[in-house]
Amino acid sequence: MLKFNLLSLIRKNIVKLNPYSSARIEYNNYDNKKNKDIITFLDANENSFGSTLCEKNFYNRYPDPFQRKLKNKISKIKKISTSNIFLGNGSDEIIDLVYRIFSYPNIDNSIIFPPTYGMYEIMGKIHGVDVRSIPLNKEDYQINLNKLENIIDKYSKIIFICSPNNPTGNDIKEEYIINIINRFSGIVILDEAYIDFSNKESFSKKIEKYPNLVILQTLSKSWGLAGIRIGIGIASKEIINWMNKIKNPYNISETSQKIALNALENKNLFLCNLKNILIERNYVINEFKKISYINKIYPSSANFILIKVKNYSKKLYNYLVKKKIIVRDRSKIILCNHCLRITIGTKKENKFLIKNIKNFFKKMYR
Ligand SMILES: *Cc1c(COP(=O)(O)O)cnc(C)c1O
Repeated sequence: MLKFNLLSLIRKNIVKLNPYSSARIEYNNYDNKKNKDIITFLDANENSFGSTLCEKNFYNRYPDPFQRKLKNKISKIKKISTSNIFLGNGSDEIIDLVYRIFSYPNIDNSIIFPPTYGMYEIMGKIHGVDVRSIPLNKEDYQINLNKLENIIDKYSKIIFICSPNNPTGNDIKEEYIINIINRFSGIVILDEAYIDFSNKESFSKKIEKYPNLVILQTLSKSWGLAGIRIGIGIASKEIINWMNKIKNPYNISETSQKIALNALENKNLFLCNLKNILIERNYVINEFKKISYINKIYPSSANFILIKVKNYSKKLYNYLVKKKIIVRDRSKIILCNHCLRITIGTKKENKFLIKNIKNFFKKMYR
């Protein structure tokens, strides 16, 4: 394994930074229920009269800056220590923070394997980072390891791997992921947003072994909570501490923390929904197989399916829009010519989708 020196990777301005210390950091005994009623909080310029909401849940107080209750819950579910967990306002906040901690604008570069999630590149450009691309193999959408050698240099700070990958849906081979983590002395971000839909195991248990690994998960997909914006970063406690040092003080709202806590209580419903999505994924794939005009159905370990419909992607997309079915047109992005990405819906939604795709081709070939 290459030598990995975390401190030497951190931007000097971040190392030197004396972080903002919020009222709720300086006095943080408040989530002890007994205390809460006795303590007179006059430290954060909140409105002690309360809000104008006519409900018992008061939102007049700033939320826990470190989301301790929520992290405890996530820690139990995922069997990862709370000190290895960071919660962000969506995974996108975590991507932003990692760039801020590790990349000098106009000097450093990051590496992505397109076609993949767009935010890795956008966020890099926002930070003035040179984002270098190594396209996935055309045949199987796997990473082309040979090409890494020529692209990595001493200014390469972050490599993004998305597995299962969006928009292609496949898992990246575990041996490839390990190979990259082992040979790279910068940070590897492994985005596991769709891991719950995959047969493959998460790398979350391996963070002790790989000090340069940052795993991204989210409550937006399998947990069905895209609206409350909670992304999960899993990494060594040293990396988590750097994230905590520079994050916005109250980055997860009180409502989001409460709703997430409630949702995470119901693991049975989570598992039930997950099972149904996998059943529906099979159903949709089997129905797609019966439609000979669909040229390719890419294998999926996620809650969406990428299909290729030669020459008809735009027309099919527009036809579906007319029927008020919105799928994602990916036909313009690299290695996805003529491709549409379709999220798995409910049984009713999927039937409606398939009926309309069949009708489209009937019309085309009448
Ligand atoms: C949907 C998705 C996410 C989730 O982003 P949030 O900001 O947590 O909602 C992250 N990565 C990938 C690849 C995704 O497709």
